[in-house]
Amino acid sequence: MSYQANDKRYDKMLYRKVGNSGLKLPAISLGLWRNFGDDIPLTTQKDLILKAFDLGITHFDLANNYGGGAAEQNFGFIFKTYLQDYRDELIISTKAGYHMWDGPYGDGGSRKYLVSSCDASLKRLGLDYVDIFYHHRHDPETPLEETALALDSLVRSGKALYIGISNYSVKDAEAISHIFKALHTPFIINQMKYNLLERDFEDNLKALTNSEGVGNISFSPLAQGQLTNRYLNGIPEDSRISRKGALTDAVTFEKNMQIVRDLQTVAEARQQTIAELAIAWQLRDAGVTSVLIGASRVSQLEENVKALDHLTFTDAELQAIDTILRQKKGQ
Ligand code: NDP
Repeated sequence: MSYQANDKRYDKMLYRKVGNSGLKLPAISLGLWRNFGDDIPLTTQKDLILKAFDLGITHFDLANNYGGGAAEQNFGFIFKTYLQDYRDELIISTKAGYHMWDGPYGDGGSRKYLVSSCDASLKRLGLDYVDIFYHHRHDPETPLEETALALDSLVRSGKALYIGISNYSVKDAEAISHIFKALHTPFIINQMKYNLLERDFEDNLKALTNSEGVGNISFSPLAQGQLTNRYLNGIPEDSRISRKGALTDAVTFEKNMQIVRDLQTVAEARQQTIAELAIAWQLRDAGVTSVLIGASRVSQLEENVKALDHLTFTDAELQAIDTILRQKKGQ
């Protein structure tokens, strides 16, 4: 089973510096939260991962609990079979912070959990190290110093090259950032939910990460598929909603669909699809290093990467988008 990567893979993708670090991430990264568990054929997963790499997507994002561990296992198999020779061209991340195994040590932010979980992830992935290891969420029961020191020790022991945090409040992010600075930990990135429908990141976290010199990677940039043409004519049988259940309550979903219909007019005038518009809109902001998409089929990857063809927005377009979002949210 051989694979030869597309020799034009670096021609189109943009690579953006992660905060003040020396690392660059592709403007579009691929996450393996959904679509990479044991419920999806391995050939589909392989096609997605190899296509992504062929499109210049060098960053794959995982977590211990994606697919209950199966996503790491499956990625590990695909990596070993097809991508081993390209290890130095890949940024592979994983995380710990949510419930992973029974008992008092399989959840949270303790040194015990984070170190064991990182070891288990490396085993499933078949890797000696991950490029980025994240604390997946703040644990109010563990002192931040303990969590920070545990993450720092993962770097010192060679199991991770860089550290990230995810789903932290501004206050906790600021506090742990200061501890990392004192320790000289390569804490370089924050992973947060951000999309046209959910803009909390803009309130304070954006300013904080900017002032701390930390990069940002946005998860669910398409609001799990709502910011695409996926649901404009009902709920398709093969969609995430059909497979995994509602993404939001029915009223909010209908409101969101109205927003998407209005956004479609702006997108069409820019000769983009809604997904392309949603991705480009995030990348207009240098504070967003990378947009972390999910995909269930290769055609979605191809469409989403086309966002790079038109990244600039006129003031009038940005204003039109803001007006649509404000009006429909009843603000
Ligand atoms: P998205 O918002 O990009 O949603 C992905 C889904 O949108 C796809 O599975 C697909 O749905 C649909 N989609 C994507 N592109 C298109 C397209 N062009 N046209 C139509 N539909 C499309 O991101 P996710 O919510 O999947 O999150 C991405 C990643 O972010 C995760 O894999 C994970 O790595 C990370 N994440 C991190 C979290 C954290 O707590 N740190 C939390 C959540 C995610 P369908 O399956 O229906 O085809």
